[in-house]
Amino acid sequence: MAESEKEAALPPKEEFSDWYNELLWMAEIMDVRYPVKGLYVWYPFGFAIRRSTYSIIRELLDNSGHQETLFPLLIPENEFMKEAEHIKGFEDEVYWVTHGGKDPLDVPLALRPTSETAIYPMYKIWVRSHADFPLKLYQVVNTFRYETKHTRPLIRLREITSFKEAHTVHATWEDAEAQVKEAVELYTEIYRRLAVPILRSRRPDWDKFPGADYTDAIDAMMPDGKTLQVGTCHHLGDNFAKTFDITYEDTDGEQRYAHQTCYGISERCIAATLSIHGDDKGLVLPPEIAPVQVVIIPIIFKKGAEEVLAACKDVQARLRKAGVRVEIDASDLRPGAKYYRWEMKGVPLRLEIGPRDLENNVAVAVRRDSGEKEQIPLPEIEAGVLSRFEAIHESLYEKAKAGLESRIFACSDLEEVKEKIQKGVATIPWCGKRDCGLAMEDKIGAGILGIPLEQEGNSKEKCPICGEETGTRVYVARTY
Ligand code: ZN
Repeated sequence: MAESEKEAALPPKEEFSDWYNELLWMAEIMDVRYPVKGLYVWYPFGFAIRRSTYSIIRELLDNSGHQETLFPLLIPENEFMKEAEHIKGFEDEVYWVTHGGKDPLDVPLALRPTSETAIYPMYKIWVRSHADFPLKLYQVVNTFRYETKHTRPLIRLREITSFKEAHTVHATWEDAEAQVKEAVELYTEIYRRLAVPILRSRRPDWDKFPGADYTDAIDAMMPDGKTLQVGTCHHLGDNFAKTFDITYEDTDGEQRYAHQTCYGISERCIAATLSIHGDDKGLVLPPEIAPVQVVIIPIIFKKGAEEVLAACKDVQARLRKAGVRVEIDASDLRPGAKYYRWEMKGVPLRLEIGPRDLENNVAVAVRRDSGEKEQIPLPEIEAGVLSRFEAIHESLYEKAKAGLESRIFACSDLEEVKEKIQKGVATIPWCGKRDCGLAMEDKIGAGILGIPLEQEGNSKEKCPICGEETGTRVYVARTY
């Protein structure tokens, strides 16, 4: 499309919903014009962000004993319908393939909304003995859910394009529990690499994954104070193993049911990263996932233009050799228009090189996150750029962390919770009883997000419903 179409200003980030929609369009992340509701198209620039983000995810999984695999998209109805709780959780969201050409299929096929029922019939065949454990596989696939709520690119989709789902098998319940802990740590590390601080909590029983013993979840806080679930880790116990008959021969020769976990992350990780770091001028990207990490702007006057361009090309070649993704913008646009364009794209570092800089043997570096301007001596350009990447990453994380922490409010009664969740996350004591939890949700008009995996202090406080003493506080939040 023409550049001129995109010269309109971005709405201020305070108007988050408008800002988000315009940003995805103006920065060329997603195009919403595909003619099916809830299905969106990745622009190549957005897809490059996806690629580097998922290479972090793959790296961390591969380095912790996971292996990548790929299962079919279609799941036969008889397998899909085996696990009662699971069906209840998904039946309203499933797309069905019922015909091959003009012929009705003997067995209708579900488009996977998630892959337990695709993978576990094969696990029944593959798992034989205790020596096969732990089995830790993952895939990055598209999944389909017939969402009836308002759809939104990267956040609520009918085709989730980038669902990373891991499925592990273990001998005992305790081994599976340890795996869930490992998954939570892995996800924490993934988000650390995206400079996104997170909340970690155990979902209340009524909000766990259908068919799981429990669900631990990762949430990010969006700029409007609502939380976005950006990762879930489920302990499946032996529930699916019993349904799909996944057994192993134990050391004593007995056949026993296996224990399983599964954990998933979707393109919501990108939604959180873009939303948390972006500003009124557009994207602000952590260097590791930026498709363009450095843009060089030649400052050209009539005199000395050739030398400036040659110096820019030299810097580009040296940075490329050092593994940096770097472009030169030698277009005819005014410098101001160039800055606007690359700021919108979130390029972490801009290098300006003009005749006077060449005389001084420096480049002027401008950080996208802070606007700070510094000179880097040209002979040390590689080290100068790389060290600034680290500094940018750290300061993005610290700023986001401070933002998150300043919007967690310890509350003492439900009225206060109602008020504070307009700005962020509230905490309130809870005795742990289901009836009290549901009564609280009802009175607040928002859900219990979960019980924090790490509790600070253990002072005896009172459940606001039944008055029982408890050392547990729960997160309450408005959620996406
Ligand atoms: Zn209570």
